[in-house]
Amino acid sequence: MEPTTAISVSGKRVDDGGAQATSKIQSAHDAAIIAESRGGARYEGLYVHVPFCRHKCHYCDFYSFVDSENRGAAFVERLLAEAAAAVRFVREPLTSVFVGGGTPTMLPPPLLRELVEGLRARLPMAGDVEWTIEANPETIDSAMAEELGALAVRRVSLGAQSFDRTLLRALERDHDPASVARAVSLLRAGGVPQVNLDLIFAAPGSTVEQCAVDVRTAVSLSPDHLSAYGLVYEPNTPLTVKLRQGTVQRVSDDNEAAQYEHVVRALAAEGFERYEVSNWSRGGAQCNHNLLYWRNGDWFGLGPSASSHARGVRWRNVPRLGDWLEQGPSSPVQDAEVLSEDVQVGEAFMLGLRVVRGIERSRVEQLLQRGSNGERRRAAMARHLGAGLLAQGATHVQLTERGFQVADSVLMDLL
Ligand code: SF4
Repeated sequence: MEPTTAISVSGKRVDDGGAQATSKIQSAHDAAIIAESRGGARYEGLYVHVPFCRHKCHYCDFYSFVDSENRGAAFVERLLAEAAAAVRFVREPLTSVFVGGGTPTMLPPPLLRELVEGLRARLPMAGDVEWTIEANPETIDSAMAEELGALAVRRVSLGAQSFDRTLLRALERDHDPASVARAVSLLRAGGVPQVNLDLIFAAPGSTVEQCAVDVRTAVSLSPDHLSAYGLVYEPNTPLTVKLRQGTVQRVSDDNEAAQYEHVVRALAAEGFERYEVSNWSRGGAQCNHNLLYWRNGDWFGLGPSASSHARGVRWRNVPRLGDWLEQGPSSPVQDAEVLSEDVQVGEAFMLGLRVVRGIERSRVEQLLQRGSNGERRRAAMARHLGAGLLAQGATHVQLTERGFQVADSVLMDLL
């Protein structure tokens, strides 16, 4: 999952308000210096953005494109220079590295090896660091699968989205559904320990029955982890243009809710544990990197358009490969924000309650005492506890099953 500078609940993005954009921040290092001045910045995770894709899907607003200029080698060289410069800030061993995009497996295996080994040589990593690499199923052949296994990548996250050709077409996904099963078995044979499948529900024209087939097919491939997100019509994507033009229709809210409910029920029946609104794992294969985002931890982003966060300072590298290649080693930034204490508190609630386990009660109390909206949040929390949308256990406060159904409105009240 790519980190985002927007906050998202159940796939919907909202404006968090109150964050202060600052023009003083020109580069990632400017931002990291401000974060350090706030005390205690500790980067546990690394996010690497590889912007290349074999086709641009119509719903996608990530910075990614089909590279007609074959700039993979220049990209890796520049990225490793950025990593070497980041060691000034990334001083403690990283516990997770997430290589996303884009499609990192668009890099040929030798270049991917150079990238992974180069990062390992330049940045401190914990012995059991969790490596995740995102992949399009069509980019996994036996050479790539063996390389990923040999590189000790723990997780490969495959964008399956749907197994229904009509729905894949509606999303303008350019892969054959059969390639997902092929990729999973090649990855297993190559020695990759954990495979995630991403699914999208509520695509235009989709039904609960189609969603059920998608979930069943995904489960039949025995993934260790599943992510299922309701389709989001991001601004300025071709799919949203079609929506405005009336050539595609959104499914109804009831249909979307029924699809989500089906996913929740079907995966529970198959022994998957939901640990976040949209994420399930089996055998303890949770994604530590994503848990870091939801805990509002500190991570450093490398590559064009990569986001970073530390101590309430958030920044996003410039989303233009040409500009990024020409400058450096610290990346120029496109947006940077220094969050007020109150915004940080709101985000801690919003992100923390997405996780099924919830937020520790002692931390909830600390959060309620910070920021300028403590009393309003305390009242909202009491209301939702009374209505059975939140529950208070011995150690944590969490959303109830009913609360998950209306997570957007509950979390907005605490933002
Ligand atoms: S493969 Fe992923 S990153 Fe690339 S265009 Fe499609 S959704 Fe976006």
